[in-house]
Amino acid sequence: MNSTTLNIAKFGGTSVADFAAMQNCAKIVASNPATRVVVVSASAGVTNYLVDLANNELTTEQINNTIASIEKIEFAILEKLNDNAATQLELQSLLSELSELAHNTKNLQTDEGKDALLCMGERMSSLLFTEVLKQEGCAALNFDARRVIKTDSQFGQGTPDIEQIADHAKQLMAPALAEQVLVTQGFIGSDSNNKTTTLGRGGSDYTAALLAEALNAQTCEIWTDVIGVYTTDPRITNKARPLPELSFDEAAEMATFGAKVLHPATMVPALRKNIRVFVGSSREPEKGGTWIAKDCSQEPYYRAITRRKDQVMVTVKTPSMLYASGFLSHVFGILAKHQISVDLVTTSEISVSLTIDNPPNSVRKKINQQIIKDLREICEVVVEEGFDLVTVVGNNMHSEAGVSSRIFQALNAHNLRMICYGANPHNMSFLVKEDTSNQVVTDLHSELFE
Ligand code: ADP
Ligand code: ASP
Ligand code: MG
Repeated sequence: MNSTTLNIAKFGGTSVADFAAMQNCAKIVASNPATRVVVVSASAGVTNYLVDLANNELTTEQINNTIASIEKIEFAILEKLNDNAATQLELQSLLSELSELAHNTKNLQTDEGKDALLCMGERMSSLLFTEVLKQEGCAALNFDARRVIKTDSQFGQGTPDIEQIADHAKQLMAPALAEQVLVTQGFIGSDSNNKTTTLGRGGSDYTAALLAEALNAQTCEIWTDVIGVYTTDPRITNKARPLPELSFDEAAEMATFGAKVLHPATMVPALRKNIRVFVGSSREPEKGGTWIAKDCSQEPYYRAITRRKDQVMVTVKTPSMLYASGFLSHVFGILAKHQISVDLVTTSEISVSLTIDNPPNSVRKKINQQIIKDLREICEVVVEEGFDLVTVVGNNMHSEAGVSSRIFQALNAHNLRMICYGANPHNMSFLVKEDTSNQVVTDLHSELFE
């Protein structure tokens, strides 16, 4: 294998949802000889079922019903394989492991226990996809990502160890690539004690980018259910249109501010190693997609609009903040201790409002009772939920006259709770009530892109 032509292909949940979808993906892999590593998500719906098992107190009957729903998805794929006896044994063994973990409710009280269960979806889909690839005539091997994707022990949101990943990938994966396509699991890794960790919801994109970096790949393809990155989420407005190109900076902003099509950290390895990233639809590969690269032919003021749901606003207030230095560092010290990252900040004489991301289905809620208790020791605390963050992503947004006034014109009729110019020239964000965010995005889109 010539490492100058290495491509990593990642297929998301809908792309590996069933046998027919997997066949489309296998054709994409077979059509590009540079694709030697394939990263798969769990089949659509499976991780949601696993999160349900991990996070909710269910009756034995509910647990069994949920496992049955997962089995149905996996067996429907298995049954379409020609020669499936050996794969059936492996799948059954994974399902027994899953069932044991799901019924061990005590174990599920820890984030470590939850991750051991959450990894099962990718372990099953990678097993099945390897067989589909072989059936398409491609020499393929199922490879356990946990041998390479080393992280810290922050279960539910592991931080990858870039150096170890590079070492392990070069030793364990690279030599095999000449002979076989390695099919591996997105989203999962392991810590220094070889305990399973996960990278946060949607983390398979991040896995693909990390492996692209570790193996010195030139390109990383994210195959999903849309024909590229759009001007906004096409589920919000049908006027959204796919973008042929994006810069690393723009894509990173979009991912950070809620464009679900890319996990927020995906662009970080791509940026470090200048790896071009492609986003396209596995159902319609002939329609092309978006290429994300260091430089673009154009740098428009407005490129896209994103929305991040489930934002929490925390207001901390103390009369002693008046003239007091050090109050903010206390507040941020508490948040840092709990590994909370803050997005928007506004201050007044005696209060500070902060927004914090609280993603649904995440393994753990970010702002919890302990954090509030710690903050209450130094100030009054008000927590408000039910907000969305809407962001306009573009270029030179700080330096050109009129760029923001056009945005405000579109938002004239809306009540904006917080407004924030990004610390870089690529974004401008607004906190709005969640029941208005669809309209806010639609109105902005109509003004800026239609
Ligand atoms: P996968 O399972 O393949 O990882 P995701 O559901 O995570 O797929 O991401 C694809 C979805 O992202 C699309 O179906 C679309 O609704 C959503 N999305 C949000 N913002 C954008 C955007 N700007 N462009 C394209 N898709 C977007
Ligand atoms: N299966 C995981 C999830 O649903 C990871 C991924 O799909 O990227 O979040
Ligand atoms: Mg995704």
